[in-house]
Amino acid sequence: MAVFNLRAYDDHEQIVFCSDAESGLKAIICIHSTALGPAVGGCRMWEYNTDEGALVDGLRLSRGMTYKNAMAGLPFGGGKSVIIGNPKTLKSEALFRAFGRFVDSISGRYVTAEDVGTSPADIAIVHKETPHVLGLEGKSGDPSPMTAYGVYKGIKSAVKFKMGRDSLEGVRIAVQGLGHVGYYLCKHLHEEGAKLIVTDINKESIERVVRDFGATACDINAIYTQDVDVYAPCALGATVNDETLPRLKCSIVAGAANNVLAEDRHGIALMNRGILYAPDYVINAGGIINVSFENNYSKDAAMAKTDNIYATLTNVFERAKSEGKPTNVVADEIARQLVAKGRK
Ligand code: NAD
Repeated sequence: MAVFNLRAYDDHEQIVFCSDAESGLKAIICIHSTALGPAVGGCRMWEYNTDEGALVDGLRLSRGMTYKNAMAGLPFGGGKSVIIGNPKTLKSEALFRAFGRFVDSISGRYVTAEDVGTSPADIAIVHKETPHVLGLEGKSGDPSPMTAYGVYKGIKSAVKFKMGRDSLEGVRIAVQGLGHVGYYLCKHLHEEGAKLIVTDINKESIERVVRDFGATACDINAIYTQDVDVYAPCALGATVNDETLPRLKCSIVAGAANNVLAEDRHGIALMNRGILYAPDYVINAGGIINVSFENNYSKDAAMAKTDNIYATLTNVFERAKSEGKPTNVVADEIARQLVAKGRK
């Protein structure tokens, strides 16, 4: 399998392949960049079909963390790790301790945290072997409320830019996914008078938001065709794709989900349709900002830094407009410039 020639390799600084026969650990630590600080990014546990699939996922996520951390103004580089295996059956104390020893062996160049398939309890085991972890229980707590707050600020930035409005009063917003982030997002939007149309695969989650915030529920697939100002994806990635794009009736796409665009070219398609896109890793950085304060936690300080998402997005929108480029391309360009400056 080629590694350096992989498209996703994209100038990664270091990749560590980790294997521990005793615990069954097979993991890959990807360090994309340490130009702005230690490479920070979560540890994903997933039953990948192939080792190559695991590597490519790690590489893509790792580069994404470089861009996210740079755009959020954090003193972090970007990295990510993947543990190959079913989180329901392969987890053990020995496995996470072995992973912790590998993290420790790279002396702080990579700092890990929870991600899909891992929990704060797993990271607490990793912490027994290395100090290089973030997101421990009892420190900064659940990052989701801060992520939601950042997405709310990001939606306000997009509404101001696209619709010239300072308030969300009467703005129609379709929220897809009412989990940890979606629920808190709906709360902020409702408090400012937005009109909510919501969906989820979980009936109870819908009922809670309908009851608490007077939202209107719609079918899972009908969320794309709602006559709204904003579509806020807060469930899965890749929901803006060839199939959904022609159906969108919104003028803004802005939500918490990672990898909203199925492919980069869908950013061009959104631009061509006059739909403003708030790049995912810019608008959903509230959680990592919250975690960055955990060694001396102050909610006020974390909120103040998360407030910057508004201005960061305005800058992306303005530059995209003046240069005639899609917002996702402009965000990548700005992130790369910040990293290059850090490297110097
Ligand atoms: P979550 O698992 O708590 O919530 C996701 C919700 O989406 C669930 O209620 C689920 O039932 C629903 N859902 C799943 N498939 C759906 C579908 N097809 N249609 C409608 N609803 C569906 O996750 P979360 O922590 O709220 O995160 C939401 C998104 O934001 C994810 O993409 C995540 O990667 C991203 N994100 C989260 C954070 C954070 O701090 N939690 C930070 C950055 C990015």
